[in-house]
Amino acid sequence: MALYNPKSLKAEEFISHEEILDTLRYAEENKNNVALIDQLLEKARPVYKDGQTTCSGLTHREASVLLACEIPEKIEEMYKLAEEIKQAFYGNRIVMFAPLYLSNYCVNGCVYCPYHAKNKHIARKKLTQEEIRKEVIALQDMGHKRLAIEAGEDPVNNPIEYILECIKTIYGVHHKNGDIRRVNVNIAATTVEEYRMLKEAGIGTYILFQETYHKESYEQLHPTGPKHNYAYHTEAMDRAMEGGIDDVGLGVLFGLELYKYEFAGLLMHAEHLEAVHGVGPHTISVPRIKRADDIDPTVFDNGISDEIFEKIIACIRIAVPYTGMIISTRESEAVREKALNIGISQISGASRTSVGGYTEEERPHDSEQFDVSDQRTLDEVVSWLMDLGYIPSFCTACYREGRTGDRFMSLCKSGQIQNCCHPNALMTLCEYLMDYASEETKEKGFAMIEKELENIPRERTKEIAKEHIIDIKNNGKRDFRF
Ligand code: SAM
Repeated sequence: MALYNPKSLKAEEFISHEEILDTLRYAEENKNNVALIDQLLEKARPVYKDGQTTCSGLTHREASVLLACEIPEKIEEMYKLAEEIKQAFYGNRIVMFAPLYLSNYCVNGCVYCPYHAKNKHIARKKLTQEEIRKEVIALQDMGHKRLAIEAGEDPVNNPIEYILECIKTIYGVHHKNGDIRRVNVNIAATTVEEYRMLKEAGIGTYILFQETYHKESYEQLHPTGPKHNYAYHTEAMDRAMEGGIDDVGLGVLFGLELYKYEFAGLLMHAEHLEAVHGVGPHTISVPRIKRADDIDPTVFDNGISDEIFEKIIACIRIAVPYTGMIISTRESEAVREKALNIGISQISGASRTSVGGYTEEERPHDSEQFDVSDQRTLDEVVSWLMDLGYIPSFCTACYREGRTGDRFMSLCKSGQIQNCCHPNALMTLCEYLMDYASEETKEKGFAMIEKELENIPRERTKEIAKEHIIDIKNNGKRDFRF
């Protein structure tokens, strides 16, 4: 039996199975303990003092009690608190991104993923650099500035040299006023040396989903290939940090294992990163398993309802208040709308999950990774966000200004975020409106910018932002940032 130790570098010690079981027992025993629940909600509430906003967050044990609670009024209070925390640190900005699938060649046997090596009827594709250029032009023509690149694990077809070459190609494409300013990377767990190479290539966040924190299930769900190694996969973020990547993105694939187990494991992973590296995860993603070629999600019997899914999002928001939260087009418009309110700060739009999908007229299904529920265009998503009162942000400033890791976190805590992220969101939205939006979206967007400029607290910043907006609109200038 491995002893629980958040500071350990051994997977089985910082994600201790016994500690999770004990946490779940404690949560079950206390799920109707209203006094404790009230105390936890109070503890997690934002404190506004001397221009600073701070939040203490909750431990995995504490947050698990909230997740276990089934008292409707308390759940309502959780949603309200999650909303308040989100507003305090992320305001009404929603960052936009799109995935770019480079290659679906894969040597692993993940039983939930259509890329698994034994799937002989999926069309295998790997983009050439010329094809990447075309995909990137298509993405730039929609208005995207931030991508998450995705690839299967295959040391022969998709070695690190290929990934690095792709990143270079992506950053090198400048079509009309377009450019990709931040490339996040979602590829299989690798070595410190390769993480260092990714860092040097100028990546934003390194994203790796744990899939499940339950070791035994993990090994069954990944029966073959390098991904079978639970410890190597679970310890990947420590190697990424050692390689100099200080923005890492966690996630589990909900539906594979019991959600309460995954939730505790996810928060323990965040606590571990904080304990060892002094900085928690930059983002947490909440993918749910979807239908795909050769994959029937109903065979995984841990699927969760929309209500539970929403509760998980709210509880993550409360537990790790400074961490960005991402939801993809795996989810429908209705689910995404609720999720935005209670914690999500980043969404994808107009995604194609097939290799080479952006240059195809019709949404191709032959090499898709999963079915996309939200199939709207980026213009439709942007317009919808504004109707809901959110500012769609194409900002990529933080990592370009060196605000990564704990520097980003301290900006988040300092109360200065409103003088920085808010004008950046407005300026990048203005670029989007000028270069890519429909007339209707433009009209809505410019009205929103006018109104939201007034919400920049510092007078001097407000003046500069106004000048930049004029420069973007009237003088063809681009890429301003605070
Ligand atoms: N191959 C890389 C790895 O091993 O981590 C990551 C890239 S993979 C394209 C991105 C993620 O898609 C996986 O980590 C998994 O969580 C998710 N995924 C796989 N199959 C899925 C399915 N059927 N439905 C929803 N998401 C899925």
